[in-house]
Amino acid sequence: MRKNIVAGNWKMNKTYQDAQALVSEIDNMVRDEVTHENVEVIVTPPFPFLNSISKLIQGNSRMHLAAQDVSAHESGAYTGEVSAAMLKSVGVEYVLVGHSERRQYHHEDADLLLKKMKAALAQGIKPIFCCGEPLEVREAEDHFKYVAQQLRETVAHLSNEEFDQVVIAYEPIWAIGTGKTASSAQAQEMHASIREELSSIFDAQAAYNKTILYGGSANPGNAKELFSQPDVDGGLIGGASLKSRDFTDIIKSF
Ligand code: PEP
Repeated sequence: MRKNIVAGNWKMNKTYQDAQALVSEIDNMVRDEVTHENVEVIVTPPFPFLNSISKLIQGNSRMHLAAQDVSAHESGAYTGEVSAAMLKSVGVEYVLVGHSERRQYHHEDADLLLKKMKAALAQGIKPIFCCGEPLEVREAEDHFKYVAQQLRETVAHLSNEEFDQVVIAYEPIWAIGTGKTASSAQAQEMHASIREELSSIFDAQAAYNKTILYGGSANPGNAKELFSQPDVDGGLIGGASLKSRDFTDIIKSF
């Protein structure tokens, strides 16, 4: 059975104290309220909080830790960068790669994203690979081709074993932080198309088993409808992951 995942991307929000409080609340609510056996909950705090949050969630087998970025380099003179080995050493299990904000503001291209995925995988950290089209591509009705190309120039260059470790997140850029969610039908048809593409790159079984998350203004009001789609296996949540009640209600939408 495909794994369901709800991952909260905190982006550049919260102080240390706020972050501790938020994750404690989420941890308690997940323990008390989440009954679904097959769901992994991931929190993705900023770098300085990873170590302490790793310790906080240690006793809760449902809760997992992700980083928002990883260096493509192993170690050395790269001021400001954080390596996969460093992340691993504080208990990080997942890392976001290819988020549209990093593609846009940090000019991360396919070549770099592939290197970042390889660097993470070499340390046993699972990439959550983000893809998704901007508004003008959707309006030109080129979105299926655009996302397929994003996969072809990155994920397609991984080995079968490496690909097994990857989670895919479809995040239409026009829906991120805009309050404008893709409809469940739009999400489903893109997720099915991604699975089809992955099946032609790898094989049908690997594609069938792949967890594909939806991201883009998901909230407690629309998560149930999105998660009920056959190819939507969970969500990557931005704004709504900063409130423990909303985030937990999204997790309970399965
Ligand atoms: C995101 O940035 O990954 C995201 C999905 O953000 P939001 O939920 O705020 O649209």
